[in-house]
Amino acid sequence: MVNAVTVFVRVFLCLCVSSAAPPNLVILFADDLGFADVGCYGHPTSVTPNLDKLATGGLRFTDFYVTVGGCSPSRAALLTGRYETRSGIYPGVLYPGSIGGLPLNETTIAAMLKPLGYASAAVGKWHLGLGANGTYLPTNHGFEHYLGIPYSHDQGPCANLTCFPPDVKCFGHCDLEAVTVPLMHNDKIVQQPANFLELEKAYSDFATNFILTSAQKQQPFFLYYPSHHTHYPQFAGARAAGTTPRGPFGDALLELDNTVGDIMAALEKTGVINNTLVFFSSDNGPELLRRSRGGSAGLLKCGKATTYEGGVREPAIAYWPGRIQPGVTHELASTLDILPTVAKLSGATLPPVALDGVDMLDILFSHGKSKRQAMMFWSLNPSKTRGLFALRLVKYKAYFYTSGSVKSSTGPDPDCVAPLMFHDPPLLFDLESDPSEHYALSLKERPDLQNVLDQIMKVKASLEASMEFGESQIAKGSDPNLEPCCNPECSPKPSCCRCP
Ligand code: MG
Repeated sequence: MVNAVTVFVRVFLCLCVSSAAPPNLVILFADDLGFADVGCYGHPTSVTPNLDKLATGGLRFTDFYVTVGGCSPSRAALLTGRYETRSGIYPGVLYPGSIGGLPLNETTIAAMLKPLGYASAAVGKWHLGLGANGTYLPTNHGFEHYLGIPYSHDQGPCANLTCFPPDVKCFGHCDLEAVTVPLMHNDKIVQQPANFLELEKAYSDFATNFILTSAQKQQPFFLYYPSHHTHYPQFAGARAAGTTPRGPFGDALLELDNTVGDIMAALEKTGVINNTLVFFSSDNGPELLRRSRGGSAGLLKCGKATTYEGGVREPAIAYWPGRIQPGVTHELASTLDILPTVAKLSGATLPPVALDGVDMLDILFSHGKSKRQAMMFWSLNPSKTRGLFALRLVKYKAYFYTSGSVKSSTGPDPDCVAPLMFHDPPLLFDLESDPSEHYALSLKERPDLQNVLDQIMKVKASLEASMEFGESQIAKGSDPNLEPCCNPECSPKPSCCRCP
């Protein structure tokens, strides 16, 4: 009798689970936002009420990593669940005229969800390539809808567009050689140059309309919102400009936070909030070169374009009312783990390729242990011959190479701008007792650490052996004729590429 009841309950539960609507997914992805930039991560003058609310009601990560400290490769890893070395998004980042882009045989989260009937939209900074005839745009990577600037907003003569009110002196340097940055809807340019002061409102309207439409159709959806905020030079429209104690960086961050609030309100209004996983993080650490306009990694070492903790450890919050219990987790996790997590939640089939992520279900739903033991870090200019720059195994991080970057200059720590150095034996840090990486551990003083180092070298060899480098998309170079122009036949370029 007991067995019969048990079987009945199990069958009933299975039926309930299988008949439940597939969960929606919202990924909020900031740009160049450091570990300590958000209010709930300790910044004293940031104004981020909506992100703080997500943290209060959700799970806040303390040990969450991107794969690398740069925009394009980090995004490639997030969307594919694979290191950027596999997809060929190296060295550095893509440009407006780049010939290459995220290869079309890579499967993004949107493409993975498509066979399940998901609607997918991307809004904001793509930065995974355009190519000839928009080959690499989001609409060719599984997203049905796209509104945004397809690369960094400073990759065009943007500085005179970022100030509010318009009669104040603008601040910041942009790429003056390229075309002005376009606003694209799907694969069409709808405005060039993009109006930065009204951009965020357009993004917010687009994102909330997408949620409303999908909810009305009772269609599961994936919204990917990679924000331009808080990349340099910061900008903000009327709703946020001049309203925070932190200046332009704080205003830009507040504008991002306002959009997060709009998106959350749309999820609540449509009644889908209890069936939606919302995940927030950032693509890489702060660009310290920009001083007070460059963000903060807090107690973490260095920032953007380095493999130090400040370059790759990011704020991250998972929110799902009724499913994720509020709290803080110190478990090791990564953007690489989002795709496998979404596959498990939705029942999607994993892409038949070498994946580098593990699902985070135990962390999210029971505050349990991570399936991830290690995290490897290649430089922005990776090489199979040189190998890994750094590797974290549980609480220890070993550096085989270190290198500073001009992007992380201006701080007092000379390591943030130091040239490439090889370390044998590797530099070793205990990130639990020394998250700032101030005190390298000495094998002479701690001979017991030899075992740790041996394990690290074993994991390193195994991970390096499993890494197949894809053809570099960025080494294919750039062609000025591929830069997006709303008036392709006009002359002289790029100044004639202007449309209302
Ligand atoms: Mg970035």
